[in-house]
Amino acid sequence: MSVTLGSIGPRLRARWRRLQPQDSLARDRWWLSVQLSVTLTVGFGAVALFTYANALAAARRQVVESTLPLTLDALSADLQQDFVQPILFASAMAANTLLIDWVEQGEQPEAAVQRYLSRVQAQHGATTVFFVSEASRRYYHPTGILKTVSPGSAQDAWFFRLRASASSYEVNLDRDTADPSRTTVFVNYKLLGDGGRFLGAVGLGRSTSQLTRRIQQAERTNGIQVMFLDGRGRILFSPRRGQAPPQLQRAIAQQRLRDSLREQPRGAFQFRQGGELIYVRTKRIPELNWTLVVSQPLRVPSGPLWSSLFQISLTALLTLILALLLVFRLTGHHHHKLARLAHTDPLTGLWNRRQLDERVRSELDRADRYGDELSLVLFDIDHFKAINDRFGHAAGDRVLVELAGRVRAKLRESDGLGRWGGEEFLVLMPHSTDEEAHQLAEKLRRLVAETPIEGVGTVTASFGVAQRRPLESAESLFRRVDGELYRAKQAGRNRVMAG
Ligand code: GH3
Ligand code: MG
Ligand code: MG
Repeated sequence: MSVTLGSIGPRLRARWRRLQPQDSLARDRWWLSVQLSVTLTVGFGAVALFTYANALAAARRQVVESTLPLTLDALSADLQQDFVQPILFASAMAANTLLIDWVEQGEQPEAAVQRYLSRVQAQHGATTVFFVSEASRRYYHPTGILKTVSPGSAQDAWFFRLRASASSYEVNLDRDTADPSRTTVFVNYKLLGDGGRFLGAVGLGRSTSQLTRRIQQAERTNGIQVMFLDGRGRILFSPRRGQAPPQLQRAIAQQRLRDSLREQPRGAFQFRQGGELIYVRTKRIPELNWTLVVSQPLRVPSGPLWSSLFQISLTALLTLILALLLVFRLTGHHHHKLARLAHTDPLTGLWNRRQLDERVRSELDRADRYGDELSLVLFDIDHFKAINDRFGHAAGDRVLVELAGRVRAKLRESDGLGRWGGEEFLVLMPHSTDEEAHQLAEKLRRLVAETPIEGVGTVTASFGVAQRRPLESAESLFRRVDGELYRAKQAGRNRVMAG
């Protein structure tokens, strides 16, 4: 069968209708359950969304207000210790007039500068201390002259770069290729003679284990990335062997950002990478003309998030089960009440005419099946209109209620009693012949006539009795019993007539 778009709607509706139960209680329950489930699902879904949004906001606060600023400050403190301090030491060396005099007087004796370099090395915990002379190109070291530097050597390029540079010092990093956590900072300072004449380079190297350890720790625990950029925005140092996130590199490559990093003491920006939001904080280290960059992706800790989502779902499920149980209880109760109202006469509490009619018909069916007897007794209060007229409608009602109670008390469990009309009552007697029905009717007649009703006095009633003939219809049986009652009225009332 081909399915067109237009036929889907009616087909779905038909299927939907088939899903719904037919009986009214079940339908009510079904609808309430569906509505309740949808409402609760939407409600708890919203709670889950809020939970996620809150977790995201908390994670963002953690990154922006706590982790990044703290890391930035700790790292810049380390930078002070590992980089700025060596610069100060080197600058003190460059200001040493005795050293300047020694150079200007022809670098003699050699042992004097060796002694001086050893002292500085010991004093500042340096890995190495050196002086390279412009005049002799000798590389002085605490242990002696290591070599002479030459412009052609790549190893000595730093010396010629410093010599040509406008700035008075240069900081270089030398990473141990075998162990990247061991990095040495070299500070090369210009030694200037009278009139600013370049005499050579003096300086020291010191290991940066503290800084590197802290960077690695930050990277391990929080997914933070740390970089140092020089004044031109080039990546100087990153513990991941110069690997910055490509997006961050691209962001930093922008002229505008580089300018702002250079100008601002502190900077903040963020960018997206592979669906992740990455927060970046920067801090200028003016002594080094560097910018410290730390970046951290915004990640919601999934463990606690899943556990609270699990708790929400569990609560939703339990709430739904409880709510459905409640719905079933309440609808059952409500339905029962409605059903009772639908088949009860409100004044006397007896069956009403509809219920009587139904009961008589179902008893007739049963009697047909089992070949059983069945009789009806119909009675009507005599001159009831006069009672109403004389004592008032409320007294009339009281008579109806009183007689209904008296009659009810005299019947068998299997007999049925209902209010057939205004002051007319019908007794349904299964398994009974007209003789038994006659006896009961006579008993009831006496009961009514012999017990006066308070405030009204003696009341009588007339009775018609009929036994059901084989396969006789309900209508015919009703007609016959009504005829007997009429006969009793005609014959003077307060009597029983049986057909
Ligand atoms: P009869 O002996 O021929 O039965 O005379 P009757 O006056 O009892 O008969 P009739 O049918 O003329 O009047 C019945 C009265 O019953 C009329 C009506 O107002 C009254 N009635 C019907 N239902 C109620 C009721 O619920 N409460 C009260 N108080 N009166 C009712
Ligand atoms: Mg009457
Ligand atoms: Mg009547």
